[in-house]
Amino acid sequence: MQQVIDILVSPEEAAKPDLLMKCVAVHLRLDISEISFLKIVKRSVDARSREVRIQLRVLVEVGKGVQGKLIEGDEGIEGDEGIEGDDLGENSVNASARREFRDVSDKKPVLIIGAGPAGLFAALRLIELGLKPVILERGKEVRDRRRDLAALNKEQQVNVDSNYCFGEGGAGTYSDGKLYTRSTKRGDVKKILNVFVEHGASEDILIDAHPHIGTNKLPQLIVNIRETILKAGGEIHFNTRVTDLVVSDDTIHGVVAVKSDGVVAGDVEFRADCVILATGHSARDIFELLERKKIALETKSFAMGVRIEHPQSLIDSIQYHCAERGAYLPAASYSLVQQVKYRGVFSFCMCPGGIIAPCATAPGEIVTNGWSPSKRNNPFANSGIVVAIDLPDLKKYARHGVFAGLRYQQELEHRAFELGGKTLRAPAQRLVDFCDRRLSTDLPKVSYQPGVTSVDLQKVLPLEIGERLQIALKEFGKKMKGYYTNDAVVVGVESRTSSPIRIPRNSETLEHVQVKGLYPCSEGAGYAGGIMSAAMDGQKCAEAIGMKHGKC
Ligand SMILES: Cc1cc2nc3c(=O)[nH]c(=O)nc-3n(C[C@H](O)[C@H](O)[C@H](O)COP(=O)(O)OP(=O)(O)OC[C@H]3O[C@@H](n4cnc5c(N)ncnc54)[C@H](O)[C@@H]3O)c2cc1C
Repeated sequence: MQQVIDILVSPEEAAKPDLLMKCVAVHLRLDISEISFLKIVKRSVDARSREVRIQLRVLVEVGKGVQGKLIEGDEGIEGDEGIEGDDLGENSVNASARREFRDVSDKKPVLIIGAGPAGLFAALRLIELGLKPVILERGKEVRDRRRDLAALNKEQQVNVDSNYCFGEGGAGTYSDGKLYTRSTKRGDVKKILNVFVEHGASEDILIDAHPHIGTNKLPQLIVNIRETILKAGGEIHFNTRVTDLVVSDDTIHGVVAVKSDGVVAGDVEFRADCVILATGHSARDIFELLERKKIALETKSFAMGVRIEHPQSLIDSIQYHCAERGAYLPAASYSLVQQVKYRGVFSFCMCPGGIIAPCATAPGEIVTNGWSPSKRNNPFANSGIVVAIDLPDLKKYARHGVFAGLRYQQELEHRAFELGGKTLRAPAQRLVDFCDRRLSTDLPKVSYQPGVTSVDLQKVLPLEIGERLQIALKEFGKKMKGYYTNDAVVVGVESRTSSPIRIPRNSETLEHVQVKGLYPCSEGAGYAGGIMSAAMDGQKCAEAIGMKHGKC
């Protein structure tokens, strides 16, 4: 007989199969020998009381037909990793578990611009629907991309086509790989997670309340997804930056791209009557191209602020109410929000055990974000702390029309660059000093590899952001006792939380409101934020194209 039970156990009991088996037996008032099968189907940390517990939902089989006992979903505790230690080639074992896709090499081509999560999941869905994806990606494949990230971190060189945002897998590849989304209504979350598992992710992501893959594991998953697409007859063109759209009579017929692989020189044209535009929120040249071609764009609200870094041990002790988290609890995270002067101030993309990354996509700007390895074992906890920017804040930029938000964002990034010392060193200040507007005489060690420069960050931030951050950060200190400390560092700037521009599309056909066959997709177009919602929007655009061709 099978049954599902909810059980609260200690972190150690949750991590050790034999101990968990005993707990389940006690809970069901059985002898341990009566349990024939046990599987964790849901797992979350319950830190509400002083003693932190793990909440599990467990599938248990009791009685005859004993096949041997099995527990899944235990990854254990791992050692030290980082970007330079990507697990390339190590998690390709699931290849045999991957679904067989049909051959679409001679089917109708659909162009996808951008190989981020949206582009890759659009490609997989098109293959399922019997259409041939042709992906055009300005950046390099993951292995080559890594060298450009090393140059960014160590030599402060920004390659405009290959960086933390651009390249195979998009901004998702060297991201944190947190796979939670609030937009569960936008698509099938489970299906996306299953695709990741098919391509090498741990099955833990199917059971954890807050699934996470980690920067070291993501690159190989992306390589595996690439293999699936190519094996099914899809095409992926790296080093291929789209520079123009071929549009006539309000209908798209293809795109023009520039190759930078040294093999083909000059422009190349790709023809298709459906084009998915999934270029992400950092592809400013694409927004400018659309504007030049008089293809409608809209201004949208977004959020900007700073990244803050605390010692991970401090966050652990606050969240888990103990001096040390021990061997069995994951690095603790937090999520904070505060209304200040009618505007939301909130934590964004919190990375426990993580690293602050230089995410500039052009020279002369500072952009931060964060990542963490699968083990989340770095000694720092970082998070964006951002202020919602609404259209009234953009009045000063009204002369830029639809680009008002983007220019505001750019100005902040340039100012951070100037005040940080005109290199990729980021401007920074200790937390209490920032709130009291006092220059920090020194800065603690930070994870941001290009380094930090002590500045008065209020000189970098516009008043409407700086003031609200000062108030909110003090309030956060009341919600999390110990958070408001001068051992924490505020690093500028966190500017690319979401796109400041929307590319409007028909809510039913998902085609651009003006150009037939053009499918504005995901984060850059203003329809997603994060890996999961990007992947879901990619699938949705593929399905809309499938409908158009009678494939759904
Ligand atoms: C450091 C970091 C950490 C993050 N951590 C998380 C996290 O933990 N969880 C989470 O959910 N989200 C995270 N994010 C955000 C997440 O990565 C993005 O939301 C997601 O990648 C958006 O997907 P997308 O496909 O819409 O666009 P992108 O991932 O931005 O992909 C767009 C692709 O288009 C390509 N492109 C752009 N212009 C052109 C052109 N002209 N021609 C051809 N190709 C072009 C780019 O090179 C890029 O590969 C993180 C982002 C960063 C930078």
